[in-house]
Amino acid sequence: MLADQDRIFKNVYGFQDWGLTGAKARGAWDNTKSFIDQGHDWIIEQVKASGLRGRGGAGFPTGLKWSFMPKDDPRPSYLVINADESEPGSCKDREITRHDPHLLVEGALLASFAMRAHTCYVYFRGEFIRERERFQAAVQQAYDAKLIGKNNVHGWDFDLYVHHGAGAYICGEETALLESLEGKKGQPRLKPPFPAGCGLYGAPTTVNNVESIAVVPDILRRGATWFAGLGKPNNTGTKLFQISGHVENPCVVEEEMGIPMRELIEKHAGGVRGGWDNLKAVIPGGSSVPCIPASECDDLTMDFDTLSKAKSGLGTAALIVMDQSTDIVKAISRISYFYKHESCGQCTPCREGTGWMWRVMERLVKGEADKSEIDMLWDVTKQVEGHTICALGDAAAWPIQGLIRHFRPELEARIDAYKAAHIEAAE
Ligand code: SF4
Repeated sequence: MLADQDRIFKNVYGFQDWGLTGAKARGAWDNTKSFIDQGHDWIIEQVKASGLRGRGGAGFPTGLKWSFMPKDDPRPSYLVINADESEPGSCKDREITRHDPHLLVEGALLASFAMRAHTCYVYFRGEFIRERERFQAAVQQAYDAKLIGKNNVHGWDFDLYVHHGAGAYICGEETALLESLEGKKGQPRLKPPFPAGCGLYGAPTTVNNVESIAVVPDILRRGATWFAGLGKPNNTGTKLFQISGHVENPCVVEEEMGIPMRELIEKHAGGVRGGWDNLKAVIPGGSSVPCIPASECDDLTMDFDTLSKAKSGLGTAALIVMDQSTDIVKAISRISYFYKHESCGQCTPCREGTGWMWRVMERLVKGEADKSEIDMLWDVTKQVEGHTICALGDAAAWPIQGLIRHFRPELEARIDAYKAAHIEAAE
């Protein structure tokens, strides 16, 4: 279990003062200037050495991503922080922005300095109204205390703008987010060019998740080796886990990366409703990753590499726990509906495929299908996966693949039951 002194987010439940005084008492804004004095590249090297991998879902090494930014480009550089957090199950960034916002403001300054950016935008999910207000208030406090802004005490001119989205899931995709920020319709861009070469307003841009940026000040303060010493090799540090669904106490908790899933659920979320043996399946990383059946959950650890070996993913570390009472076919069908609804419609496999998959899923819920359609559905998920402009196509395909991989007998039994009921009715 993570020791209290190793916690980065000390006010995740909002019991203490969120403002500048409270944040400083918890250690924020301590020694910030000394990190800036050591130079742009020093910060990038520290973040690289810490092993920090992006907390938005993909798990790309953060320091490496920063190093892609040009060093002597005449265009301005931008840092854009993704606070769109729209993945069903995810609710960690909102806790940071409303309860410990100064960690993000300080992290934004340090990360922007590392990438030679004088401007940073934070893009908020449309529904996060109070969170945006709270964060804006923290930004104002930082301006008033001259911690950021022109001629600030850190010697690096830095402006931070808060932007409020309109509530579209797809704006959490980094290039759709940039389009939206530019005032256009939030539709993903084709890559390449990648944002580091041509991002916001055609200038070098890095888009990072809230948590990835909020941990940076602590990495610099306590040292890269401290962060790298937590967790597992290649999966270092602490992580905010979010546990929802059929558990006694749904919660958000900071733990070491690589904690066993069972320990996480039992120690922090009060256990599965009705006990561990009542578990049916877990979606470990937000609704887009494939579910894992209970039989495989006993020895799983919560980190990028283990979960991808289990043919799922850590994603945003949002566990959705489902007990035996769950109609798993219906649950996955509901997820399919979500992705169909949120498809931006730009590319055919996603626009047509998400609706097609959802309609078949709805028939499978009732058992009103032929068994051969299960294979056909699998084939269609494979035709969507990897054949679209952005990852929403994959996000729509993976939950269905997980269902077919692990719960095929349940799908077939439902088809048999439907057929039997109709034969009986006809007779
Ligand atoms: Fe839009 Fe879907 Fe294509 Fe992404 S995959 S660009 S959401 S149509």
